[in-house]
Amino acid sequence: MQVATRIATIGIPWDENSSFMRGAAEAPPLIRAAFASESANPWSETGIDFGATPIFDAGDVEPVPGAAMIGRITESIGALLDQDWRLIALGGDHSITYPVVKAFAKKYPRLSVLHFDAHPDIYDEFQGNRYSHACPFARIMEEGLADRLVQVGIRTATGHQREQIERFGVEAVEMKDFRDDLTIEFDTPVYISFDIDGLDPAFAPGVSHREPGGLSTRQALNVIQRLKADVAGADIVEFNPRMDSTGVTAMVCAKLLKEIAAKMLSVRIA
Ligand code: MN
Ligand code: MN
Repeated sequence: MQVATRIATIGIPWDENSSFMRGAAEAPPLIRAAFASESANPWSETGIDFGATPIFDAGDVEPVPGAAMIGRITESIGALLDQDWRLIALGGDHSITYPVVKAFAKKYPRLSVLHFDAHPDIYDEFQGNRYSHACPFARIMEEGLADRLVQVGIRTATGHQREQIERFGVEAVEMKDFRDDLTIEFDTPVYISFDIDGLDPAFAPGVSHREPGGLSTRQALNVIQRLKADVAGADIVEFNPRMDSTGVTAMVCAKLLKEIAAKMLSVRIA
């Protein structure tokens, strides 16, 4: 299958808003290396050959300290979206998703978000930080950046977060209720935000917050492949190389990158 792709990756090596452990900022070059590794061929499971139609590497957003980075991320993503790239951001911790989605929402006024995570990440604030990696979806919903937010893999919701889920009308598919035949449909463009800790730590130990009882890699891939939607963009966040002694989590990230990119090519956005 030959398809002209306008898909790019952009690294966001930033983990200042992590609440527990640093290291996610070191992920982007390792995900790129795993994606390019000759241990696997460049074909997606669904028949896209990324050897013939490579994904463009747009480099990294150069970090600046403090809150200025939030605006810098939105600007950098916006500039690439203006050139009609479909983007996959490589984090970084999950705090990057708010400024990235902010840029996407400007281009796609009706945007939905499909969020894989052990955690709802919808605290109003966490440890006094409203831009913590525990808060991006509160900011996204408050600002009306997403029509719908569907969360998959959740297994840590607190009372406060359940109130926030209710308040913002979030559709949370908690892990305790997960079914293998889950098929999600959107009638708007979709942004996929994939926190690697949504997977069970048995499959992806290289994360800062190992939360047992999660998705298998296969279950997550099936949800993505079954998705009925136009995928406009995505991020892969919270991979922490300092916790990945075998390197398997880097390969899991590369696999998700390949299958999400293939999904982007399966439908044209009008
Ligand atoms: Mn998260
Ligand atoms: Mn998480």
